[in-house]
Amino acid sequence: MISFSQVTKRYPGGHEALSGVNLAIEKGELVFLTGHSGAGKSTLLKLIAAIERPTSGVVSVSGQNVGRLPQRAIPYLRRNIGLIFQDHKLLFDRNVIENVVLPLDIAGFDHRESLKRARAVIDKVGLLKREKANPVSLSGGEQQRLCIARALVSRPALLLADEPTGNLDAGYAADIMTMFRDFHQVGTTLVIATHDDRAIMALGGRTLQLDHGKIGEVAA
Ligand code: ADP
Ligand code: ADP
Repeated sequence: MISFSQVTKRYPGGHEALSGVNLAIEKGELVFLTGHSGAGKSTLLKLIAAIERPTSGVVSVSGQNVGRLPQRAIPYLRRNIGLIFQDHKLLFDRNVIENVVLPLDIAGFDHRESLKRARAVIDKVGLLKREKANPVSLSGGEQQRLCIARALVSRPALLLADEPTGNLDAGYAADIMTMFRDFHQVGTTLVIATHDDRAIMALGGRTLQLDHGKIGEVAA
C-alpha cells in the first residue's frame, strides 16, 4: 500500500530530514515508527499524506506517486487517510460535534446518520459531555482526543498518527490504543509514530526505527 524508494527529504536551508529511505508497508499492516526527536518521523508521515514532497526518490501510496500528485488531486488522496498530527487543525468556529461530523458531510453522507456516527466516536474518546463546546475551551489532551475522533469517524483505509498519545493520561492513551487495535483488526493500515513503548508492546505490530533520517527495522 505504501512504498518509499530512495527517498530523501531536505527542507529549505536545512540538512537532510530523511536520507535514502526504502520501505514497504502492506495493506492492513500495523507499523510503529520510533526514533529520537528530529529523527524524521513526522517528515515520513507528511510525505505519505503529501503534506510535504520528497526532494528525491519516489513515495507511492496505493499505486500513486504522491510526491508528483497535482495539487487538485491531493484532497482525493486525503479522503482515504485519517490524519492525527500535533497541529490539530481543529476548526474553532465550530463546536466539538460539528468538527467531527464535517468529514462525513463533505463526503456526502446523510447528515442525521452522520451525527449518530460522530456521537458514537465522540463517546469512545470520552468527549460526549463536551459535544457542544468550542474546541478553544478544551484542554490539550481533549483537543488531541477530538482530533483522533475526527480522524477515525470516516473509517479511513489508512491512518497516520504522530505521537497520538503524547498528551494523554495513561487511561485515555490505553483507550486510544484499543481503538487503533480495533481498526487494525478490521483491515485498516496504521502507521503510528510514538515514544510510547508500552503501546508498542501492547499492540504488537512491526517497528521501524529512524535514526537521523535513516531507517532500520527493529526485530520483534
Ligand atoms: P521527528 O518527527 O522524528 O521529531 P521531524 O521529521 O519532525 O522529526 O524532523 C526531522 C528533521 O527535519 C529535524 O532536524 C527537523 O528540525 C527538521 N524539520 C522538520 N520540519 C522542518 C521544516 N518545516 N523546515 C525545516 N526543517 C524541518
Ligand atoms: P513534530 O515532530 O512535533 O510534529 P514538526 O514536524 O512540526 O513537529 O517539527 C519537528 C522539528 O522541526 C522541531 O524541532 C521544529 O522546531 C522543527 N521545525 C518545524 N518546522 C520548522 C521550520 N519551518 N523551520 C525550521 N524548523 C522547523
